[in-house]
Amino acid sequence: MSIEKAAVMSYDPENIFAKIIRAKAPAHRVYEDDWTVAFMDLMPQADGHTLIVPKHEARDLLDAEPYVLGKTIQTTQKVARAVKVAFSADGVMVAQLSGAAAGQTVFHLHFHVLPRYDGVDLRFHGKEVAPAEVLAEHAERVREALRAQSD
Ligand code: 5GP
Repeated sequence: MSIEKAAVMSYDPENIFAKIIRAKAPAHRVYEDDWTVAFMDLMPQADGHTLIVPKHEARDLLDAEPYVLGKTIQTTQKVARAVKVAFSADGVMVAQLSGAAAGQTVFHLHFHVLPRYDGVDLRFHGKEVAPAEVLAEHAERVREALRAQSD
């Protein structure tokens, strides 16, 4: 790989998810532990669309350390279970895009959790910002389902 290409592929600590992790940018958070943070997607493709990120710096699945992936997928499972209950979904889609050619737009590793329903398509990817009050209500639903998990 050329030096120029390597520079382009490096991790940008000022990306929006890094700022959300450091609480330097707003987000409707639903979960946090020592390793991970989960929050509502700003432009949800389905009501309840939630993102899970590791606190470690990683651009995508391909450059993340395996132990970071392990922690992140554990949180993804926890959140996916909660989202399925909170939004009475028929199923849950977990998606991860690595690289611009794959459709990735934010270059901090994240997993998408999307409630799915029989015969219902997703909305477009990263297209329409949801109203803050809607995201706040959806976040509360997910938090409630997470609380119920730990009871
Ligand atoms: P990607 O395309 O990288 O797989 O997904 C990035 C996701 O982040 C998209 O679904 C997009 O809607 C979401 N997103 C982009 N900017 C923000 C933001 O500032 N806050 C939140 N919560 N989500 C964002």
